[in-house]
Amino acid sequence: VVNIMWFRRDLRLTDNAALYHALKNNTPVLPVFIFDSNILDQLANRSDRRVVFIHEALQAMQSKLSALGSSLEVCHGTPEESFRKLFEKYAVGKIFTNHDYEPYATERDGAIEKMAVQYGADFHTYKDQVIFEKDEVVKDDGKPYTVFTPYAKKWRARLQPFYLKAYPVEKYYDRFYRRDLVAVPALEEIGFKPAKEDFPPSDVPDAILENYTQRRDFPSIAHGTSHIGVHLRFGTVSIRQLASRAVKLNATYLNELIWREFYQMILWHFPKVGKGHAFKAAYDNIKWRNNENEFRRWCEGSTGYPIVDAGMRELNTTGFMHNRVRMITASFLTKHLLIDWRWGEAYFAEKLLDYDLAANNGGWQWAAGSGCDAAPYFRVFNPALQTQKFDKDLRYIRKWVPEFEELTYPQPMVVHEEARKRALETYAKALK
Ligand code: FAD
Repeated sequence: VVNIMWFRRDLRLTDNAALYHALKNNTPVLPVFIFDSNILDQLANRSDRRVVFIHEALQAMQSKLSALGSSLEVCHGTPEESFRKLFEKYAVGKIFTNHDYEPYATERDGAIEKMAVQYGADFHTYKDQVIFEKDEVVKDDGKPYTVFTPYAKKWRARLQPFYLKAYPVEKYYDRFYRRDLVAVPALEEIGFKPAKEDFPPSDVPDAILENYTQRRDFPSIAHGTSHIGVHLRFGTVSIRQLASRAVKLNATYLNELIWREFYQMILWHFPKVGKGHAFKAAYDNIKWRNNENEFRRWCEGSTGYPIVDAGMRELNTTGFMHNRVRMITASFLTKHLLIDWRWGEAYFAEKLLDYDLAANNGGWQWAAGSGCDAAPYFRVFNPALQTQKFDKDLRYIRKWVPEFEELTYPQPMVVHEEARKRALETYAKALK
């Protein structure tokens, strides 16, 4: 008999809740990862950075596991197909895995749990990717918060050292199932192409956290923010470890980690937001213009607004965009161009290395005004003022749009004041 540890967005062998509980049992633990064809088949780009990132993370895990005399079992297919094969190949006692709060994931896990029962196996899941999940930080009457500030206050009040403690997984490393090494399939074998990528490091230097409050809003500062999003997304760092450092080094940074949990909590309680619905239903009455040519210009970074174009080009080139510029570009799409926030959400979902359904949806609905605790709709970002405040010496713009002062650079595709007025009228009509 073996127990299975099913890795998903927790690709690490240290401080991992489900892995700790799996190894504490006395049964050998078979580590499993599934390249889920339901997800992979939807990716437009065959050299998708996220797939390359996962592949690298698996190889790093694999070399550690091989030193322990074990090996990952890597499957490729739907989770159901993959588990059916695993049940046929092994006598599985228990499956251990960590919670995932996305609608697809909860359905997937429900189906696998059902299948496990049929095969006589138990399914155990644990909180791992957040400090507080779902119902742990709720209002006094037990209802979920929909406003960030009181949520964050309660979150901080609940925090005890206990919640930040690492799971001492290493103590039980001798309990992995012993087997010969099986190579992680090459990217080509799962239908992707290798790509040379410089991923951000998983260890954030103290200095970034210490200077975060003063530096985080300026996109031209290379290390003003931590670039840790992708590692949180795929679990190549532990949130407990990162939050512990934030508690010691910087309250503003901790606050950002709380935003992350806030949006995950919202997605769990209001799964409709992840299925194309506005959090505030009235915003689904907005008559979007949805001009495809204008959308294309926004995507490629040729709107004639240098700060917007810089952001989109940074995204297209690197898979990253600075948070301040995410807000500016999202506001521009939804307000200046009156293009449905779902189009922008989908574009970011395709391009962002740190793409996360909860945070991306939260960010887009915030910008469009339709989200919980969003900016009021009549606050329309002015790209010129944003530039003055956050890229005064134009360093960020010069980096990504070097031709912005030349004749070849396009005229602004809309006039700010006119577009602002049009947005306000359109929103007011929908919300009256
Ligand atoms: P840092 O500033 O160093 O913050 C550290 C971590 O805190 C981030 O990695 C992230 O996990 C979390 N965090 C910070 N700000 C937020 C926030 N506003 N909401 C939720 N979590 C936050 N973040 C994503 O992780 N994935 C997304 O797909 C995503 N899409 C976004 C779309 C829009 C329109 C907007 C406005 C914001 C989006 N964000 C998203 C939030 C934020 O922009 C990124 O988390 C941040 O820029 C990532 O860079 P960093 O790791 O250097 O962040």
